Amino acid sequence: MTQRPLLTLATGDPLTVDVLIVGAGPTGLALASMLQRSGISMLLADKLEAGLNTSRAAVIHAHTLDVLETLGVSGRLAERGLTLYRFSLWDRDSALLRLRFDSLPSKHSGLLMLPQDVTEALLAETLAEAGGRVERGVTVDSLSETPRGVTASLVSSEGRRTVHARFVVGGDGMHSLVRQTAGIGFSGTSYEESFVLADVEMEWGKGRGEVTLFFSPAGLVVVAPLPSGAYRVVATLERAPERPGVADIQALLDARGPSRDGGRVSAVHWSSRFRLHHRVADRYRRGPFFLMGDAAHVHSPAGGQGMNTGLVDACVLGQILADVLSGRREEGHLDKYETLRRPAAQQVLGLTGRLTHMAVMKGAPRRLVRNAALRTLNLIPAARRRIEMNLSGLSREAAARIA
Ligand SMILES: Cc1cc2nc3c(=O)[nH]c(=O)nc-3n(C[C@H](O)[C@H](O)[C@H](O)COP(=O)(O)OP(=O)(O)OC[C@H]3O[C@@H](n4cnc5c(N)ncnc54)[C@H](O)[C@@H]3O)c2cc1C
Repeated sequence: MTQRPLLTLATGDPLTVDVLIVGAGPTGLALASMLQRSGISMLLADKLEAGLNTSRAAVIHAHTLDVLETLGVSGRLAERGLTLYRFSLWDRDSALLRLRFDSLPSKHSGLLMLPQDVTEALLAETLAEAGGRVERGVTVDSLSETPRGVTASLVSSEGRRTVHARFVVGGDGMHSLVRQTAGIGFSGTSYEESFVLADVEMEWGKGRGEVTLFFSPAGLVVVAPLPSGAYRVVATLERAPERPGVADIQALLDARGPSRDGGRVSAVHWSSRFRLHHRVADRYRRGPFFLMGDAAHVHSPAGGQGMNTGLVDACVLGQILADVLSGRREEGHLDKYETLRRPAAQQVLGLTGRLTHMAVMKGAPRRLVRNAALRTLNLIPAARRRIEMNLSGLSREAAARIA
């Protein structure tokens, strides 16, 4: 496919677009696709020369896939991923709670395991098919509000160029320039704990059919099969090494996983650590500035909600912007975005906070109470269903419905 030439930053008059999207992570790519398909003029810029190409978020939930149907990408994601239907919680060898994701009220029932770099590649492919592209190696280095919208200064190795946009959307991650420029607070806290993540080759006694989460006095460890045949291991750790190796992951599984039939790790394909923050932007819009994804909310990776919540933000915002810019709706409709999506993020922060709190609980008596509570929940189908609906995002379906 022939693409128009890269944004020639050194020369030329200022560019004018309806929407400037800062950041081509999963949310930027999804929003750009939505706008491109609606015929809205937009520019998607990312400072990285290439995508991050790392595994990071490894699960896509049913509600996210339902929403991504608008882009026609859900089937492709499902083809490349591994759909699992079972999720169980253990205290080492003792089962506490067993959840099932095969009968959810969704066309995409299940937990779709797929590394984030593949998700991003498929979203970029969808954008290209709609005739859009990512301007890579292009940093948005300043933004100023004008009576007509925003004037942005973009820099690349070729030089600098001015872009006038009616709206600017920050899909630019946790340290968002858009959020800072708009003067929007990011309330919450940062924690001492880190999460360790690793995609490993291993023998695993519990097989490839389910996600298993183990509590132990030493902390949490989660094991989830990936479509490549590898496994994702996630664990909490007060002081995590920067690039955990085979011995680090083996030690975590030995200390926290099942005491019999535990995993035997033979190689680490990718590993990282992840510092814990719980924050949500005080507003999702101020004038011509909008926030989505990690720019708007960050939280514990427990339950794999981060990227999922951001992708739904992007699709909802894309629909609202397209409706307003094409004249189908009044400008006041733009505020609907925050009304729908900020409460959804607050619910996700509550959910992931509770999961993390349970996982890092200290003291034998408290852990006994926790385990007893989970075993009781396991006996109540309605309680299990509530947790399944929360984790799959389907309990937040109304927050994606643009009436
Ligand atoms: C190590 C790690 C592990 C993770 N694991 C999980 C997990 O297991 N489950 C889960 O749900 N989530 C996980 N996450 C979080 C998940 O990756 C994010 O929620 C998701 O990437 C957020 O997408 P986003 O589009 O909002 O922002 P990002 O993916 O952060 O993308 C932001 C983009 O903006 C670009 N950018 C920033 N500033 C500028 C600028 N001024 N000009 C131009 N471009 C700019 C950046 O280059 C970047 O590409 C993990 C994250 C990390 C780092």
